[in-house]
Amino acid sequence: MSHLLEINDLEVRFALRSGDLTAINRIGFTLEKGERMGLVGESGAGKSVTGFSILNLISKPGYIAGGRILFRGRDLAVLTTEEMRSVRGNRISMIFQDPMMTLNPVMTIGDQMTEGLMAHRKISRSSAEDLAVEKLKAVHIPSPETRLRQYPHEFSGGMRQRIVIAIALLTDPDLIIADEPTTALDVTIQAEIMDLLLDLCTQKEMAMILITHDLGVVSQVTEKIGVMYAGRIVEMGSTDNIVSNPQHPYTKGLIRALPGSREPGSMLYQIPGSMPSLSAIPEGCAFHPRCDLARDVCRAEVPPLMQRGLFQRLVACHLVGAV
Ligand code: SF4
Ligand code: MG
Repeated sequence: MSHLLEINDLEVRFALRSGDLTAINRIGFTLEKGERMGLVGESGAGKSVTGFSILNLISKPGYIAGGRILFRGRDLAVLTTEEMRSVRGNRISMIFQDPMMTLNPVMTIGDQMTEGLMAHRKISRSSAEDLAVEKLKAVHIPSPETRLRQYPHEFSGGMRQRIVIAIALLTDPDLIIADEPTTALDVTIQAEIMDLLLDLCTQKEMAMILITHDLGVVSQVTEKIGVMYAGRIVEMGSTDNIVSNPQHPYTKGLIRALPGSREPGSMLYQIPGSMPSLSAIPEGCAFHPRCDLARDVCRAEVPPLMQRGLFQRLVACHLVGAV
C-alpha cells in the first residue's frame, strides 16, 4: 500500500549569484493517513522550507533541485502550477505562525471563507456559508453566523488562529502542514490551539506535519519526530522513543533545553553556539562545532542517517551505535 506522503531524497537549493546554497540536503520520510509528525529544530534548520516545498511554495531564488514528493502516489514536485493549486487548499492545507499571513484584513471572515471555497469547488454561496459556519463551530467560535460578518481585527489573536484552522479545514484535507501555529500566541492559548488541532486530526483522520522549534509541543501532539539540523534530518523515530531516550547529541541538547527538564534552581540549559547559516555549513557533521563529543571523523565525514545499534530509529551521528 502506498503512503499518504512519501518524500525521497528531497533537495532544495537557493540560486545566488555567488553560487547555489543547499537548504535541504536529501531528506526523506513517509507519513500515513491520520499520522502526526513533528519536524523539530532551531530556526534555520530547514523545517519551514521542507513544509513549503511539499506545497511547491518555495519562492525564487529557491528551487527543488532533486528528489520526489509523492502525495497519494503522485509526484507533487512535477505538477503544473494549475494542478498544484488544486492539491493545495484542497487535499493539503497549511497553517502559518501569523494568522494575518492567511487572513485579509479588509475582507470579512465570511467572504474569505466562502470565496476560497468557491474557487476550489462548484458550490453556491449559501452552501459555502453553511460550510463556513460548520467549520467555525468545529473550532469553537461562538455565534459563527454573526462572526462571519466581522473583520479579522475584531477577533483576538487566539480566535484568529482558530479561524485560520477553520479555513484550513474547509476542504477536509488529508494533510495539514502547521508551521509554528502557536508560537505567536500566549502560553494558555497555545495549549488550547494544540488540543484543538489534535482533536480535529483524530476526528477526521487527518495527517499533520507540525513544524516547530518546541520539542515540548511536539511531544504532546505527534506520533513521530524528525529532528532537523542544517538542512538534514539527524534523528527520526517515534516520539516516545526519542523524547525518553534521545541519541543524537543535538536532540539531547534540545531536550535538555526544555524548561521542565532542569534541576530546580539550576540555570536553563542552552546548546552552545548557533545554527550555521546556509553559506557556512561546516564540513563533515554540521553539528560538530557545537558538539562536546566531536572528534576527527566528525569534522571530515557526514554521518549518514541510518539505524544504529539497537535503537528503533534513524540517527546521523558517528558515535551512536559504535562499538
Ligand atoms: Fe557530535 Fe560527531 Fe555525532 Fe556530529 S557525528 S553529533 S559531531 S559526535
Ligand atoms: Mg520556520
